[in-house]
Amino acid sequence: MGAEYGLVLGFMGDTPDWQATSPYYYHFVAHEFFHTWLGNNIDGNESIVWFHEGFTDYLSLWHLAAADLVSQDWFADRITELGDEAREKSAWGKIAFAQTEQSWRDGDGPIETMAYKGGLMLAFALDVELRAAGKPGLPQLMRDLLAHPELDVNLASLRQWCADQGLEDFWQQYVVGKTTFDPREKLAEVGFNLKRQGEGKRQGEGKGEGEIESADERSGKETRSQFFHFVPQS
Ligand SMILES: [Zn+2]
Repeated sequence: MGAEYGLVLGFMGDTPDWQATSPYYYHFVAHEFFHTWLGNNIDGNESIVWFHEGFTDYLSLWHLAAADLVSQDWFADRITELGDEAREKSAWGKIAFAQTEQSWRDGDGPIETMAYKGGLMLAFALDVELRAAGKPGLPQLMRDLLAHPELDVNLASLRQWCADQGLEDFWQQYVVGKTTFDPREKLAEVGFNLKRQGEGKRQGEGKGEGEIESADERSGKETRSQFFHFVPQS
């Protein structure tokens, strides 16, 4: 049946139960499945590896959290972890995504790591920006591209899409420019208070049973649930 849909995962192995239920494994499988859209149905080339791999990695992670297959906290932890790796171990901030003459493959070296992890950060930042502007978020990009299979997906068409959303400045800053950011700042914008439980509270001040959550906690929860809200196609 897989062949009917043209899907080849290219991965075989006996997966022990502990691994099969790990969120990392979910993300790995979701990433590979997501290539059915981004990579198979939406074409492109090696000049935008960061779009194919980074956006795939982000959108698969976002969908897992939106579908409650991983927790929102795990989403935030993973974004933080991958963002820190992008900042510390890749060329993110040293070269621009818009450099099409760039070969993005260097065998998991700093450039390929930027394509995957920096590309994921770019996708995350774009999603945050879109939602802040009252748009449905990054899944809309997939819908728009899938609705126009004749479109050549490249730097120019992606830039045009951003411009159509009113995000030309974003494009200039993050894709043409070399701007990086601390993932924690963007997570805070979408309602994640990254303080660990109990942290920032004086001893004995922890929430007791039946105690009402604070206004801050309530508004954080509300912002997060909007961020993971999947807007159906109208
Ligand atoms: Zn991939």
